Amino acid sequence: MARSVLKIDLDALAANWRDLAAASGSAEAGAVVKADGYGLGATQVATRLAREGAKRFFVAIAEEGVEVRKAVGPDATIHVFGGHMAGDAAVLRDNGLIPMLNSGEQWQRHQSECPDLPFGIQLDSGMNRLGLEPEDWADIRDAVMAKGPELVMSHLACADEPDNAMNAQQLEAFRDMTAGIDAPKSLSATGGILMGGDFHFDVTRPGIGMYGGEPFTGARPVAYLNIPVIQARTVGIGESVGYGNTWVAHKETRVATIAAGYADGIIRAQSGKGQVFVGETPCDILGRVSMDLIGIDISELDHTPESVTFLGLRQTVDTVASYAGTIGYEILTSLGARYQREYLGA
Ligand SMILES: *Cc1c(COP(=O)(O)O)cnc(C)c1O
Repeated sequence: MARSVLKIDLDALAANWRDLAAASGSAEAGAVVKADGYGLGATQVATRLAREGAKRFFVAIAEEGVEVRKAVGPDATIHVFGGHMAGDAAVLRDNGLIPMLNSGEQWQRHQSECPDLPFGIQLDSGMNRLGLEPEDWADIRDAVMAKGPELVMSHLACADEPDNAMNAQQLEAFRDMTAGIDAPKSLSATGGILMGGDFHFDVTRPGIGMYGGEPFTGARPVAYLNIPVIQARTVGIGESVGYGNTWVAHKETRVATIAAGYADGIIRAQSGKGQVFVGETPCDILGRVSMDLIGIDISELDHTPESVTFLGLRQTVDTVASYAGTIGYEILTSLGARYQREYLGA
């Protein structure tokens, strides 16, 4: 079988969440399960976290909330970062989703289409991505507070750099905008949780750290990817490997072809960079990453392995990201649909 196996360790995910919940102090830790649980399966991830005690989940768009609602049952709270878009009313209502309203327009829409449904508010504290600007917020604040939002939140732009002055600036802006309001407040994702108590408020929103990524350096890996070897050959001096002949042998090299490529989320920018592992032995990636195949150097091995490890204890999503010039988030959310997925601890 040439199908790669993606093992998802839900026990590790649960332990990471518990650690981030503990690091959140007296704040309640929610769980961000947008983008299909960062590519690892929203149903399995949310189900396990609900069992672990998570009561509050966050998704990006309303449609994602449908699957999460099925997974976590009727009692958990599900927030939608994208707020209330045109056409969302039925899906919000039918699935008990709480839109985080991020503009005056969304506030109006929510009032006219579902005035009886709960909502939250998203404020912009400086990232200029989503949320009400201070002036817009001042205009509607009294009307909003009279209806009792479930949660008032904002998001940090530079929380992966604790020393960045932007963090203190956004903290102050968020405090100013929420002074004197009695709704629960939320500012921090994984990075903010790790910056300490000032950033915690009432609810935290861990994402990447639960899935084993930085900036939570203490995270246990959650994704383990094993890729079968399809074929191996000896390549002589001067011969090349892969599209475009970008790798040429300077010595006789044992080359194995493994059965995954950029269609599976192994980013093509990783061509000629980084490695896979066979046990403890690193095997360099040779030449371009193809759609379904990659060449690797197995000269150091005394045998042709049946499979190699791309993600695991020796190589995390952040290591791979550094070769591909990206971040662990993108590696996780790119993991392909072609893998055989196995869940540990489901
Ligand atoms: C994605 C996201 C999170 C989670 O962030 P991590 O860095 O993955 O912990 C939290 N809040 C908002 C608004 C987000 O978009």
